[in-house]
Amino acid sequence: MTTSSSSQRIAVIGGGIFGVSSAVHLARLGAQVTLVTEGAFASGASGRSLAWLNSARFRSAEYHRLRVVGIDRYRTLASRNEGAAWLRFEGGLTWDADEASNRIAEAFAHEQSIGYDCQLLGAAEVVKVTPGINAAAISRQGAIFNPGEGWVDLPSLIEILLQEFEALGGQAVAHAGKASVDIKGGRAAGVSTANGTYIKADAVLVATGAAAPEMAKQAGHAIVDGTPIALLVKSKPFGPAVRAVLNTPNVALRPTPDGAVVCDSAWSEEELNRRSDGTHDVKEETLRRLLLEASNVLEGNPALELESYHCGPKPVPGDGEPVIGPLEGIPGYFVAFSHSGATLGLIAGELIAREMVTGEASPLLANFRPARFAQKSHALAS
Ligand SMILES: Cc1cc2nc3c(=O)[nH]c(=O)nc-3n(C[C@H](O)[C@H](O)[C@H](O)COP(=O)(O)OP(=O)(O)OC[C@H]3O[C@@H](n4cnc5c(N)ncnc54)[C@H](O)[C@@H]3O)c2cc1C
Repeated sequence: MTTSSSSQRIAVIGGGIFGVSSAVHLARLGAQVTLVTEGAFASGASGRSLAWLNSARFRSAEYHRLRVVGIDRYRTLASRNEGAAWLRFEGGLTWDADEASNRIAEAFAHEQSIGYDCQLLGAAEVVKVTPGINAAAISRQGAIFNPGEGWVDLPSLIEILLQEFEALGGQAVAHAGKASVDIKGGRAAGVSTANGTYIKADAVLVATGAAAPEMAKQAGHAIVDGTPIALLVKSKPFGPAVRAVLNTPNVALRPTPDGAVVCDSAWSEEELNRRSDGTHDVKEETLRRLLLEASNVLEGNPALELESYHCGPKPVPGDGEPVIGPLEGIPGYFVAFSHSGATLGLIAGELIAREMVTGEASPLLANFRPARFAQKSHALAS
Protein backbone atom coordinates (compact mmCIF):
# COMPACT_ATOMS: atom_id res chain seq x y z
CA MET A 1 0.00 0.00 0.00
CA THR A 2 1.24 3.50 -0.78
CA THR A 3 1.02 6.14 1.93
CA SER A 4 -0.88 9.20 0.77
CA SER A 5 -0.20 12.57 2.29
CA SER A 6 -1.76 15.16 0.05
CA SER A 7 -1.68 17.79 2.79
CA GLN A 8 2.12 18.14 2.77
CA ARG A 9 3.71 20.89 0.71
CA ILE A 10 7.27 20.06 -0.21
CA ALA A 11 9.77 22.16 -2.13
CA VAL A 12 12.72 20.52 -3.87
CA ILE A 13 15.71 22.58 -5.05
CA GLY A 14 17.84 21.13 -7.86
CA GLY A 15 16.96 19.84 -11.32
CA GLY A 16 19.48 16.98 -11.50
CA ILE A 17 18.71 13.31 -11.02
CA PHE A 18 18.49 13.57 -7.21
CA GLY A 19 16.04 16.48 -7.24
CA VAL A 20 13.88 15.12 -10.05
CA SER A 21 13.81 11.55 -8.75
CA SER A 22 12.92 12.78 -5.24
CA ALA A 23 10.23 15.08 -6.62
CA VAL A 24 8.52 12.31 -8.57
CA HIS A 25 8.68 9.92 -5.62
CA LEU A 26 7.21 12.62 -3.35
CA ALA A 27 4.42 13.23 -5.85
CA ARG A 28 3.74 9.48 -6.03
CA LEU A 29 3.28 9.58 -2.26
CA GLY A 30 0.67 12.30 -2.63
CA ALA A 31 2.67 15.34 -1.52
CA GLN A 32 2.14 18.72 -3.22
CA VAL A 33 5.57 19.26 -4.69
CA THR A 34 7.27 22.25 -6.27
CA LEU A 35 10.63 21.54 -7.92
CA VAL A 36 12.82 24.52 -8.74
CA THR A 37 16.15 24.67 -10.47
CA GLU A 38 18.54 27.45 -11.33
CA GLY A 39 18.85 26.84 -15.09
CA ALA A 40 17.59 24.05 -17.34
CA PHE A 41 16.86 20.59 -15.97
CA ALA A 42 19.86 18.23 -16.25
CA SER A 43 22.23 21.16 -16.72
CA GLY A 44 24.50 20.12 -13.82
CA ALA A 45 26.51 16.93 -13.33
CA SER A 46 23.53 14.84 -14.45
CA GLY A 47 23.86 16.29 -17.94
CA ARG A 48 27.50 15.27 -18.31
CA SER A 49 27.79 11.92 -16.54
CA LEU A 50 29.31 8.62 -17.60
CA ALA A 51 26.41 7.12 -15.61
CA TRP A 52 27.80 3.61 -15.21
CA LEU A 53 25.37 1.67 -12.99
CA ASN A 54 27.58 -0.37 -10.74
CA SER A 55 28.84 -1.42 -7.36
CA ALA A 56 32.17 -2.74 -8.55
CA ARG A 57 35.36 -3.08 -6.49
CA PHE A 58 35.78 -2.00 -2.87
CA ARG A 59 33.53 0.00 -0.51
CA SER A 60 31.72 -0.36 2.81
CA ALA A 61 29.15 -3.15 3.06
CA GLU A 62 26.37 -0.61 3.72
CA TYR A 63 27.28 1.46 0.71
CA HIS A 64 27.50 -1.65 -1.48
CA ARG A 65 24.04 -2.68 -0.32
CA LEU A 66 22.57 0.72 -1.17
CA ARG A 67 24.12 0.67 -4.64
CA VAL A 68 22.88 -2.85 -5.34
CA VAL A 69 19.37 -1.82 -4.32
CA GLY A 70 19.82 1.22 -6.57
CA ILE A 71 20.70 -1.02 -9.53
CA ASP A 72 17.66 -3.16 -8.73
CA ARG A 73 15.39 -0.15 -9.25
CA TYR A 74 16.94 0.42 -12.67
CA ARG A 75 16.34 -3.22 -13.55
CA THR A 76 12.65 -2.75 -12.83
CA LEU A 77 12.67 0.39 -14.95
CA ALA A 78 14.45 -1.47 -17.76
CA SER A 79 11.90 -4.27 -17.70
CA ARG A 80 9.12 -1.66 -18.02
CA ASN A 81 10.94 0.05 -20.90
CA GLU A 82 12.12 -2.94 -22.86
CA GLY A 83 14.53 -1.99 -25.65
CA ALA A 84 14.96 1.59 -24.37
CA ALA A 85 18.04 3.15 -25.96
CA TRP A 86 18.65 5.28 -22.82
CA LEU A 87 18.99 2.44 -20.28
CA ARG A 88 21.05 -0.64 -21.07
CA PHE A 89 22.18 -3.58 -18.95
CA GLU A 90 24.92 -5.10 -21.09
CA GLY A 91 27.62 -5.44 -18.48
CA GLY A 92 30.77 -3.67 -17.38
CA LEU A 93 34.35 -4.61 -18.19
CA THR A 94 37.28 -3.47 -16.06
CA TRP A 95 40.98 -3.97 -16.24
CA ASP A 96 43.98 -2.38 -14.53
CA ALA A 97 47.36 -1.37 -15.91
CA ASP A 98 50.03 -4.05 -16.13
CA GLU A 99 52.00 -2.72 -13.20
CA ALA A 100 52.53 -3.41 -9.50
CA SER A 101 49.32 -1.53 -8.60
CA ASN A 102 47.16 -4.01 -10.57
CA ARG A 103 44.38 -5.16 -8.18
CA ILE A 104 42.22 -7.15 -10.58
CA ALA A 105 42.72 -10.52 -8.83
CA GLU A 106 41.98 -8.93 -5.43
CA ALA A 107 38.92 -7.10 -6.77
CA PHE A 108 37.65 -10.31 -8.34
CA ALA A 109 38.10 -12.27 -5.09
CA HIS A 110 36.31 -9.52 -3.17
CA GLU A 111 33.40 -9.28 -5.63
CA GLN A 112 32.98 -13.06 -5.58
CA SER A 113 33.03 -13.10 -1.78
CA ILE A 114 30.10 -10.64 -1.59
CA GLY A 115 28.11 -12.32 -4.34
CA TYR A 116 28.56 -9.53 -6.90
CA ASP A 117 28.21 -11.13 -10.32
CA CYS A 118 31.70 -11.24 -11.86
CA GLN A 119 33.91 -13.23 -14.18
CA LEU A 120 37.69 -12.97 -14.42
CA LEU A 121 38.57 -13.33 -18.09
CA GLY A 122 41.70 -13.39 -20.20
CA ALA A 123 41.76 -11.31 -23.39
CA ALA A 124 40.73 -14.23 -25.61
CA GLU A 125 37.74 -14.99 -23.41
CA VAL A 126 36.59 -11.35 -23.23
CA VAL A 127 35.85 -11.18 -26.94
CA LYS A 128 33.55 -14.22 -26.63
CA VAL A 129 31.57 -12.55 -23.82
CA THR A 130 31.15 -8.94 -24.91
CA PRO A 131 31.66 -7.34 -28.34
CA GLY A 132 33.60 -4.39 -29.67
CA ILE A 133 36.74 -4.60 -27.48
CA ASN A 134 40.35 -4.45 -28.64
CA ALA A 135 41.59 -7.60 -26.88
CA ALA A 136 45.21 -6.51 -27.36
CA ALA A 137 44.62 -3.58 -24.97
CA ILE A 138 43.69 -5.87 -22.06
CA SER A 139 46.53 -6.37 -19.62
CA ARG A 140 47.91 -9.86 -18.93
CA GLN A 141 46.27 -9.99 -15.48
CA GLY A 142 42.92 -10.14 -17.31
CA ALA A 143 39.67 -8.21 -16.96
CA ILE A 144 36.61 -8.50 -14.74
CA PHE A 145 33.31 -8.72 -16.59
CA ASN A 146 30.28 -7.80 -14.47
CA PRO A 147 27.25 -8.96 -16.46
CA GLY A 148 24.75 -7.22 -14.18
CA GLU A 149 26.03 -3.69 -14.75
CA GLY A 150 24.70 -1.11 -17.16
CA TRP A 151 24.42 2.58 -17.98
CA VAL A 152 21.70 5.21 -18.19
CA ASP A 153 21.39 8.40 -20.19
CA LEU A 154 20.41 10.69 -17.32
CA PRO A 155 18.95 13.57 -19.39
CA SER A 156 16.52 11.08 -21.00
CA LEU A 157 15.60 9.62 -17.63
CA ILE A 158 15.10 13.09 -16.14
CA GLU A 159 12.77 14.02 -19.00
CA ILE A 160 10.69 10.88 -18.47
CA LEU A 161 10.50 11.42 -14.70
CA LEU A 162 9.49 15.07 -15.22
CA GLN A 163 6.62 13.99 -17.46
CA GLU A 164 5.33 11.70 -14.71
CA PHE A 165 5.90 14.41 -12.08
CA GLU A 166 3.81 16.93 -13.99
CA ALA A 167 1.12 14.34 -14.74
CA LEU A 168 0.87 13.79 -10.98
CA GLY A 169 0.27 17.52 -10.47
CA GLY A 170 3.85 18.51 -9.52
CA GLN A 171 5.07 22.02 -10.38
CA ALA A 172 8.43 22.05 -12.15
CA VAL A 173 10.11 25.45 -12.44
CA ALA A 174 13.27 25.79 -14.54
CA HIS A 175 15.42 28.94 -14.91
CA ALA A 176 14.38 30.11 -11.44
CA GLY A 177 17.85 31.46 -10.64
CA LYS A 178 19.57 30.51 -7.39
CA ALA A 179 17.12 29.40 -4.75
CA SER A 180 17.67 29.38 -1.00
CA VAL A 181 15.97 27.75 1.95
CA ASP A 182 13.94 30.06 4.15
CA ILE A 183 14.36 29.09 7.80
CA LYS A 184 11.75 30.58 10.11
CA GLY A 185 11.45 29.82 13.81
CA GLY A 186 14.25 27.28 13.50
CA ARG A 187 12.56 25.18 10.82
CA ALA A 188 12.52 25.08 7.02
CA ALA A 189 9.52 27.13 5.99
CA GLY A 190 9.95 27.58 2.27
CA VAL A 191 12.16 28.47 -0.66
CA SER A 192 13.00 31.88 -2.13
CA THR A 193 14.22 32.05 -5.69
CA ALA A 194 16.48 34.67 -7.24
CA ASN A 195 13.69 35.75 -9.58
CA GLY A 196 11.55 36.73 -6.61
CA THR A 197 9.25 33.74 -6.15
CA TYR A 198 8.51 32.42 -2.67
CA ILE A 199 7.35 28.83 -2.23
CA LYS A 200 5.86 28.08 1.16
CA ALA A 201 6.59 24.50 2.26
CA ASP A 202 6.34 22.14 5.22
CA ALA A 203 9.65 20.58 4.19
CA VAL A 204 12.46 21.39 1.76
CA LEU A 205 14.93 19.09 0.01
CA VAL A 206 18.24 20.55 -1.10
CA ALA A 207 19.46 18.45 -4.02
CA THR A 208 21.70 21.02 -5.61
CA GLY A 209 24.65 18.79 -6.43
CA ALA A 210 27.99 20.51 -5.90
CA ALA A 211 26.23 23.52 -4.32
CA ALA A 212 24.75 21.46 -1.47
CA PRO A 213 27.67 21.73 1.03
CA GLU A 214 27.68 25.53 0.77
CA MET A 215 23.91 25.69 1.26
CA ALA A 216 24.16 23.43 4.33
CA LYS A 217 26.95 25.65 5.63
CA GLN A 218 24.67 28.68 5.38
CA ALA A 219 22.28 26.77 7.64
CA GLY A 220 25.13 26.11 10.10
CA HIS A 221 25.82 22.51 9.07
CA ALA A 222 29.10 21.19 7.73
CA ILE A 223 29.16 18.66 4.91
CA VAL A 224 32.73 17.83 4.10
CA ASP A 225 33.15 18.34 0.38
CA GLY A 226 35.52 16.54 -1.97
CA THR A 227 34.04 17.76 -5.26
CA PRO A 228 36.52 17.73 -8.17
CA ILE A 229 36.12 19.26 -11.62
CA ALA A 230 35.37 16.54 -14.14
CA LEU A 231 35.48 16.30 -17.91
CA LEU A 232 33.21 14.22 -20.12
CA VAL A 233 33.97 13.96 -23.84
CA LYS A 234 31.53 12.77 -26.49
CA SER A 235 32.53 11.44 -29.90
CA LYS A 236 30.56 11.94 -33.07
CA PRO A 237 28.22 8.99 -33.75
CA PHE A 238 30.02 6.09 -35.45
CA GLY A 239 27.90 3.06 -34.52
CA PRO A 240 30.23 1.41 -32.02
CA ALA A 241 30.06 -2.35 -31.57
CA VAL A 242 30.92 -2.01 -27.88
CA ARG A 243 27.99 -2.75 -25.53
CA ALA A 244 29.58 -2.84 -22.07
CA VAL A 245 30.77 0.08 -19.96
CA LEU A 246 34.58 -0.04 -20.06
CA ASN A 247 36.79 0.96 -17.15
CA THR A 248 40.38 0.77 -18.25
CA PRO A 249 43.64 2.30 -17.02
CA ASN A 250 43.52 5.37 -19.29
CA VAL A 251 39.85 5.75 -20.17
CA ALA A 252 36.33 4.87 -19.05
CA LEU A 253 33.67 4.83 -21.76
CA ARG A 254 30.22 3.71 -22.70
CA PRO A 255 28.01 3.82 -25.79
CA THR A 256 25.29 6.49 -26.09
CA PRO A 257 21.70 6.25 -27.36
CA ASP A 258 22.70 7.96 -30.63
CA GLY A 259 25.57 5.62 -31.53
CA ALA A 260 28.54 7.55 -30.16
CA VAL A 261 30.69 7.00 -27.07
CA VAL A 262 31.23 9.23 -24.05
CA CYS A 263 34.45 8.95 -22.09
CA ASP A 264 36.30 10.31 -19.11
CA SER A 265 39.43 9.59 -17.08
CA ALA A 266 41.13 10.82 -13.91
CA TRP A 267 44.32 11.94 -15.73
CA SER A 268 42.32 14.24 -18.02
CA GLU A 269 40.83 16.05 -15.01
CA GLU A 270 44.33 16.80 -13.78
CA GLU A 271 45.10 18.61 -17.04
CA LEU A 272 42.28 21.18 -16.67
CA ASN A 273 43.23 24.81 -16.05
CA ARG A 274 41.11 26.94 -13.75
CA ARG A 275 40.30 30.35 -15.21
CA SER A 276 40.02 33.42 -12.96
CA ASP A 277 36.19 33.37 -13.30
CA GLY A 278 36.06 29.84 -11.83
CA THR A 279 35.33 28.06 -15.14
CA HIS A 280 37.82 25.63 -16.63
CA ASP A 281 39.90 25.54 -19.73
CA VAL A 282 40.34 22.23 -21.56
CA LYS A 283 43.41 21.74 -23.70
CA GLU A 284 42.86 20.42 -27.21
CA GLU A 285 45.61 17.91 -26.54
CA THR A 286 43.62 16.50 -23.59
CA LEU A 287 40.51 16.03 -25.74
CA ARG A 288 42.56 14.46 -28.53
CA ARG A 289 44.33 12.04 -26.19
CA LEU A 290 41.10 11.02 -24.44
CA LEU A 291 39.51 10.10 -27.77
CA LEU A 292 42.70 8.28 -28.76
CA GLU A 293 42.67 6.30 -25.51
CA ALA A 294 39.03 5.43 -26.24
CA SER A 295 39.91 4.31 -29.74
CA ASN A 296 42.77 2.17 -28.36
CA VAL A 297 40.39 0.00 -26.31
CA LEU A 298 37.83 -0.43 -29.10
CA GLU A 299 37.91 -3.15 -31.72
CA GLY A 300 39.45 -1.93 -34.98
CA ASN A 301 40.70 1.29 -33.31
CA PRO A 302 38.07 3.52 -34.97
CA ALA A 303 39.07 7.15 -35.65
CA LEU A 304 36.96 9.05 -33.11
CA GLU A 305 35.99 12.62 -33.84
CA LEU A 306 35.06 15.09 -31.13
CA GLU A 307 31.39 16.04 -30.96
CA SER A 308 31.30 17.90 -27.64
CA TYR A 309 32.81 18.08 -24.20
CA HIS A 310 31.49 19.18 -20.84
CA CYS A 311 33.45 20.28 -17.87
CA GLY A 312 32.21 21.11 -14.38
CA PRO A 313 31.96 19.95 -10.79
CA LYS A 314 31.29 16.30 -9.99
CA PRO A 315 29.55 16.26 -6.58
CA VAL A 316 31.63 14.11 -4.19
CA PRO A 317 31.34 14.12 -0.37
CA GLY A 318 34.70 14.43 1.40
CA ASP A 319 34.54 10.93 2.90
CA GLY A 320 33.30 9.37 -0.34
CA GLU A 321 29.96 8.18 1.01
CA PRO A 322 26.47 9.58 0.30
CA VAL A 323 24.99 12.37 2.43
CA ILE A 324 21.23 11.85 2.49
CA GLY A 325 18.75 12.86 5.16
CA PRO A 326 17.64 15.60 7.55
CA LEU A 327 19.85 18.38 8.86
CA GLU A 328 19.62 17.81 12.58
CA GLY A 329 18.13 20.66 14.56
CA ILE A 330 16.33 22.20 11.56
CA PRO A 331 13.02 20.35 11.21
CA GLY A 332 11.91 20.07 7.61
CA TYR A 333 15.38 20.63 6.08
CA PHE A 334 16.66 17.63 4.06
CA VAL A 335 19.73 17.15 1.88
CA ALA A 336 20.72 14.69 -0.85
CA PHE A 337 24.36 14.98 -1.96
CA SER A 338 26.47 12.15 -3.32
CA HIS A 339 28.80 10.91 -5.99
CA SER A 340 27.66 7.91 -8.08
CA GLY A 341 24.39 9.75 -8.32
CA ALA A 342 23.46 7.89 -11.49
CA THR A 343 23.60 4.53 -9.70
CA LEU A 344 21.84 5.96 -6.64
CA GLY A 345 19.42 8.33 -8.38
CA LEU A 346 16.26 6.24 -8.23
CA ILE A 347 16.78 4.69 -4.80
CA ALA A 348 17.96 7.92 -3.14
CA GLY A 349 14.85 9.71 -4.41
CA GLU A 350 12.60 6.89 -3.26
CA LEU A 351 14.07 6.66 0.25
CA ILE A 352 14.33 10.38 0.97
CA ALA A 353 10.79 10.96 -0.32
CA ARG A 354 9.42 8.28 2.02
CA GLU A 355 11.32 9.75 4.97
CA MET A 356 10.05 13.26 4.24
CA VAL A 357 6.45 12.15 3.92
CA THR A 358 6.23 9.54 6.68
CA GLY A 359 8.90 10.77 9.11
CA GLU A 360 10.20 7.19 9.36
CA ALA A 361 13.96 6.84 8.98
CA SER A 362 15.13 4.27 6.44
CA PRO A 363 17.69 1.81 7.88
CA LEU A 364 19.29 1.76 4.42
CA LEU A 365 20.37 5.37 4.95
CA ALA A 366 21.50 5.02 8.58
CA ASN A 367 25.22 5.31 7.73
CA PHE A 368 24.80 8.21 5.35
CA ARG A 369 23.37 10.98 7.49
CA PRO A 370 24.60 14.59 7.35
CA ALA A 371 24.93 14.36 11.16
CA ARG A 372 28.16 12.38 10.81
CA PHE A 373 29.87 15.74 10.18
CA ALA A 374 28.45 17.11 13.46
CA GLN A 375 31.84 17.88 14.99
CA LYS A 376 32.68 20.03 12.01
CA SER A 377 29.26 21.74 12.32
CA HIS A 378 30.04 22.60 15.94
CA ALA A 379 33.31 24.12 14.78
CA LEU A 380 31.34 26.22 12.24
CA ALA A 381 29.13 27.51 15.03
CA SER A 382 32.00 28.42 17.36
C1 LIG B 1 32.14 13.09 -15.64
C2 LIG B 1 31.22 12.40 -14.66
C3 LIG B 1 31.17 11.01 -14.63
C4 LIG B 1 30.32 10.37 -13.74
N1 LIG B 1 30.25 9.00 -13.76
C5 LIG B 1 29.34 8.37 -12.98
C6 LIG B 1 29.19 6.98 -13.09
O1 LIG B 1 29.85 6.33 -13.89
N2 LIG B 1 28.26 6.36 -12.29
C7 LIG B 1 27.49 7.07 -11.41
O2 LIG B 1 26.67 6.48 -10.73
N3 LIG B 1 27.63 8.41 -11.29
C8 LIG B 1 28.53 9.07 -12.05
N4 LIG B 1 28.69 10.41 -11.95
C9 LIG B 1 28.00 11.11 -10.87
C10 LIG B 1 26.57 11.49 -11.17
O3 LIG B 1 26.43 11.94 -12.49
C11 LIG B 1 26.19 12.58 -10.19
O4 LIG B 1 26.39 12.08 -8.86
C12 LIG B 1 24.75 13.00 -10.31
O5 LIG B 1 24.44 13.37 -11.64
C13 LIG B 1 24.49 14.17 -9.37
O6 LIG B 1 23.14 14.53 -9.47
P1 LIG B 1 22.59 15.71 -8.57
O7 LIG B 1 21.15 15.79 -8.85
O8 LIG B 1 23.03 15.53 -7.16
O9 LIG B 1 23.38 17.01 -9.07
P2 LIG B 1 23.31 17.82 -10.44
O10 LIG B 1 23.02 16.96 -11.60
O11 LIG B 1 24.54 18.65 -10.49
O12 LIG B 1 22.05 18.74 -10.24
C14 LIG B 1 21.99 19.79 -9.31
C15 LIG B 1 21.15 20.91 -9.91
O13 LIG B 1 20.92 21.89 -8.93
C16 LIG B 1 20.98 23.17 -9.54
N5 LIG B 1 21.30 24.13 -8.50
C17 LIG B 1 22.47 24.27 -7.81
N6 LIG B 1 22.35 25.25 -6.90
C18 LIG B 1 21.09 25.72 -7.00
C19 LIG B 1 20.37 26.72 -6.30
N7 LIG B 1 20.90 27.44 -5.29
N8 LIG B 1 19.09 26.96 -6.69
C20 LIG B 1 18.51 26.28 -7.70
N9 LIG B 1 19.14 25.29 -8.36
C21 LIG B 1 20.42 25.02 -8.02
C22 LIG B 1 22.07 23.03 -10.58
O14 LIG B 1 21.94 24.02 -11.59
C23 LIG B 1 21.84 21.60 -11.07
O15 LIG B 1 20.99 21.60 -12.20
C24 LIG B 1 29.52 11.11 -12.83
C25 LIG B 1 29.56 12.51 -12.87
C26 LIG B 1 30.41 13.16 -13.79
C27 LIG B 1 30.40 14.65 -13.83
